[in-house]
Amino acid sequence: MVENVLIEVKNLSKHFTMASGLFRQETAKRLKAVDNVSFTIGKGETLGLVGESGCGKTTVGRCILQLHKPTGGEVLFQGKDLCRISGKELRPLRQKFQIIFQDPSESLNPRFTAADAIGEPLRIHNTVYGHAYQERIAELLNLVGLAPYMAERYPHEFSGGQRQRLGIARALAMNPSFIVCDEPVSALDVSIQAQIINLLDDLQRQFGIAYLFIAHDLSVVRHISHRVAVMYLGKIVELCDRDELYKNPLHPYTKALLSAVPIPDPKVEATRAPIVLKGEIPSPLNPPAGCVFHPRCPSAFAPCPTVAPVYRDAGDGHSVSCLLYPTSRT
Ligand code: SF4
Repeated sequence: MVENVLIEVKNLSKHFTMASGLFRQETAKRLKAVDNVSFTIGKGETLGLVGESGCGKTTVGRCILQLHKPTGGEVLFQGKDLCRISGKELRPLRQKFQIIFQDPSESLNPRFTAADAIGEPLRIHNTVYGHAYQERIAELLNLVGLAPYMAERYPHEFSGGQRQRLGIARALAMNPSFIVCDEPVSALDVSIQAQIINLLDDLQRQFGIAYLFIAHDLSVVRHISHRVAVMYLGKIVELCDRDELYKNPLHPYTKALLSAVPIPDPKVEATRAPIVLKGEIPSPLNPPAGCVFHPRCPSAFAPCPTVAPVYRDAGDGHSVSCLLYPTSRT
């Protein structure tokens, strides 16, 4: 049970209609990018969201921020459903929600100086002016470990890690209470990844910001997350405390992801036997019947191709969607 809930996502779905054929005349198909997803995020908490490319994790982040309009479900913040309030009501709340993108090069306008890029939200929302604006830019640069004299440099004059620091500074400009970190370290070298994760950790301690930290492997989210959710083909298949997930994974997909995480001890690493999943992730345009993971699942048994498992608490707040765990463990 999460204390001090900041955001509650209830039965969130996002479906896209895909036309096909030479002149897009064939019957349109529905792509269920996100299908009936529910979770909460507490104040100052990090929820890691992990899954293979195309599983819908970025779409979840964008639906929370209302960058995609959800097809169904609710996103509750301060008692309001963000999916159903007017644009006028949403605008001030938007200041509290920010995003850090995967590729810092693409998220920064090459014609903007660092100061222009970081100050963009301040200018859009007209919050500070004149000398106070310059001071705020210098303060934000300091917060992310950059020197204020770098304010007039252009993005190409920064390294990849420094550009991601600029992206973080821009996200901090409006004092957010929640940031979607959309694979913020995937495009960076391993040594820089640790620095950026430590920076996000420090900022969370300082300002009590909550993160939805999206990544495609479990090794990246381990250090920063309080809880971790695993997604497969538009659905959350497992969610629990970080330590519980790494010690006692339940879902066969989570077990496979964890078995692929390298172990720093060479002796233990030499004995590691990764679980190799069969085939590719199926198309969300044509998901398998029953449990959507059954064509690749090493533990599949008779009912799996026909019976869809229900996502439920298997005990102690450890939720899972798998027919191997039909009832609470307690
Ligand atoms: Fe595997 Fe069956 Fe569990 Fe699905 S329900 S994850 S196929 S064991």
